Amino acid sequence: MDLGLRDKRAIVCAASKGLGRGCAEALAEAGVELVLNARGADALARAADEIRARYGVSVTPVAADITTSEGRAAVLEAAGEVDILINNAGGPPPGVWADWTREDFIAALDANLLAPVAMMQAVLPAMMGQGWGRVVNITSAAVRAPIAQLGLSNTARTGLTGFVAGTARQVAGQGVTINNLLPGIHATDRIKALDGPVAEADGISLEAASARRMATIPVGRYGTAAEFGAMCAFLCSQHAGFIVGQNILLDGGAANQTI
Ligand code: NAP
Repeated sequence: MDLGLRDKRAIVCAASKGLGRGCAEALAEAGVELVLNARGADALARAADEIRARYGVSVTPVAADITTSEGRAAVLEAAGEVDILINNAGGPPPGVWADWTREDFIAALDANLLAPVAMMQAVLPAMMGQGWGRVVNITSAAVRAPIAQLGLSNTARTGLTGFVAGTARQVAGQGVTINNLLPGIHATDRIKALDGPVAEADGISLEAASARRMATIPVGRYGTAAEFGAMCAFLCSQHAGFIVGQNILLDGGAANQTI
């Protein structure tokens, strides 16, 4: 399927690895010129080189912390006006509700609510002005089915879900769609960081901890960044103009829900 995205321009935040990288690759495959962001300059430069070589699109790496206003300014300045924005950042650490301080909540809100909101506020006016734009926010399955030990994530990301629900309907008339992608468990560094402590606490191998978690997913495996990226690229495509303000769960059937 031709996604109709050749020569569009996109910012993909937090994208040297994992789900952001999967989105960047799928957009690049569709011919989208990329501004690619992550904090670590070396891994980001490698990712940019690989994507450029594989898909023949221009890739501008901007090493910056997207959760800071300086980081966002650097990304936005390098990008200029864009057609597509993929919002992403690292997720907050796991923990216990009684331990989280105000500072912990502020950090989670900065990363997973206020950063994507600020990026949308920066790019939406030009998208609306040109009558076409696509925004996809990487959130989490936890906004549908909260994960208790990821309470910081649950709290910040449901705030973003609320913001998108209203705002998506305010900009849709100008040809701009905003949607959220909700990852369940995917095989990235993030999930290794979550399986590691479980293995240690239970005295089992990382593989055994992963196998136990995979058994809780109806498809019996973790999702891949490529599958995730393909859905992201479709949401950005010309075919997805009627999909507005949705929260699309990619979780292998893990959440036992009717809707
Ligand atoms: P990942 O594999 O750890 O990759 C994270 C990427 O984001 C890296 O490129 C990292 O590079 C970059 N990054 C992290 N913090 C950043 C920041 N402040 N500014 C700029 N770049 C930043 O993580 P992932 O699994 O793809 O997860 C992506 C998001 O989805 C996270 O918010 C995660 O919580 C959420 N999520 C993931 C899963 C899953 O199963 N994987 C499930 C639910 C939700 P640098 O470290 O160099 O900056």
